[in-house]
Amino acid sequence: MINDSFSDSMSLLSFEVFPPKKDDDFKNVFATIDELSTFNPDFISVTYGAGGSNSKKTLEVASYIQTQKKINALCHMTCVGYTRKDLDKALEEFDNSHLSNILALRGDRPQTMTDEQFNNREFMYANEMIEYIRNKKGSNVCIGGACYPEKHPESASMAQDIEHIKEKVEAGLDFMTTQMCFDNEIFLRYFELLHKNNINIPVFCGIMPITKATQLGRSITLSGSSVPKKLSDLIALYGDNPDAMFEQGTKYAADQIKNLRSNGVSGIHIYAMNNAKTVKAILEQL
Ligand code: FAD
Repeated sequence: MINDSFSDSMSLLSFEVFPPKKDDDFKNVFATIDELSTFNPDFISVTYGAGGSNSKKTLEVASYIQTQKKINALCHMTCVGYTRKDLDKALEEFDNSHLSNILALRGDRPQTMTDEQFNNREFMYANEMIEYIRNKKGSNVCIGGACYPEKHPESASMAQDIEHIKEKVEAGLDFMTTQMCFDNEIFLRYFELLHKNNINIPVFCGIMPITKATQLGRSITLSGSSVPKKLSDLIALYGDNPDAMFEQGTKYAADQIKNLRSNGVSGIHIYAMNNAKTVKAILEQL
């Protein structure tokens, strides 16, 4: 399980991938995972729901990571995507695939979901799903959750957000991964705030490499993560030159990781976006 490595290692590294959009693209995703696995991550997480992916695809990719590559796979599961019955079924498949790590999330509302469906979901918030999984599986599962250095966009205040994070920890979280964060000052302040609130579980800082100007689109705007002037200046300067933007974007991410490490942050999570070349370029600079 992922939490087995927490006490032994001062420097933890994880990557995130998403399942293929089309059924016949598994080959490409597996090839990316083959490459990512050569960098010896502590775990690779697999998203659920993004771009309409279903739980079967998440489990299939996670199973490949766990059983073929012998690397801890972290399966994302969402309240928006699962009723209790669906979750029970997914947990059975999860056990059959020898998986033992779940990132339990509320999830964002898919465009195809009506207000009625969204408002009547069985698990309202991530803490309810975390509690359900913990009660069902006890210590045979490692459970992660999401957190937000600039607060979740729907939260009225950081104080309110922290109260809800506490509920998730009390429900049985083992660790958290942050929303993408481009500004280390913001992450370090948040890390301190969590400690002040007696939230002491490991926290992975989410690093999103920006290697193309077009990435600064809707998803980053919706994430609520602020883009520091240094990064927006790089995009303004190099955005029209793909090679230079790749070089500058991976350097920015590598510098961020170096600085976090030098400030004693042990958990780094790279949003790999199914791009092993980007991850390789970052790690070569560390
Ligand atoms: P929650 O912890 O449930 O919080 C959601 C909001 O509700 C927050 O504002 C919180 O403060 C508030 N809240 C919590 N509990 C209560 C309560 N009891 N009463 C009132 N308000 C409450 N989305 C996907 O669809 N698929 C993915 O694979 C995926 N992977 C992700 C991975 C990471 C590392 C991160 C950071 C996010 C990911 N997301 C994914 C996005 C995530 O689902 C959204 O950010 C979602 O809006 C919130 O999920 P959460 O688990 O943080 O929600």
